Amino acid sequence: MKAAPAPAPAPGAAPAARTHRPAPVLWFTGLSGSGKSTIAVRVGDELARKGLEVEYIDGDALREVFPNTGFTRQEREEHLRRTGYLASRLAAHGVTVVASLVSPYRESRDFIRKLCPRFVEIYVSTPLEECERRDVKGLYARARRGEIRNFTGIDDPYEPPEHPELTLDTRDVSVEECVAKVLARVGNHL
Ligand code: ADP
Repeated sequence: MKAAPAPAPAPGAAPAARTHRPAPVLWFTGLSGSGKSTIAVRVGDELARKGLEVEYIDGDALREVFPNTGFTRQEREEHLRRTGYLASRLAAHGVTVVASLVSPYRESRDFIRKLCPRFVEIYVSTPLEECERRDVKGLYARARRGEIRNFTGIDDPYEPPEHPELTLDTRDVSVEECVAKVLARVGNHL
């Protein structure tokens, strides 16, 4: 006899997670050029090497998939809420999430913290002067010339976390050391 088909989930309902414990969400926040993605990618690689299921989420890459995502406060908030929700669902299914987004607003980050039971906020606190000196993508120069509007740190605010799980100022700390600090901080949570 054929088994009865599983009932369809209610419209809009997320499927129940099979894992008992949600995975951590490592959320890197900081100015453009502060070092978030450099460190986050390396951390993700290390965790994958340990055998964990890992998803790396990059804010800029997501914007390429959704090219109409703008940079007003409202559009940034929506971008963050969507990304945070995605991260929370992956984590609910046991996938460790490593996310790298400027995520400039405290309220949006706190919203994501509430969605993700094991949220680890990593503040890459490299100051504006150093980020601008690096100007990895030439964006600060363009923002200073007025070619880009609403650029975080120039004509848009960055609200630093008040109680991050970890703060990294990359001026005097090598990439390797930063990666080691993150792994040490999350080691007990894995
Ligand atoms: P973000 O993702 O925050 O925009 P990126 O990781 O793309 O920043 O760029 C950071 C730049 O800073 C890279 O060119 C990187 O090589 C450099 N850098 C120098 N020292 C460090 C460090 N300790 N950690 C991370 N990046 C560093």
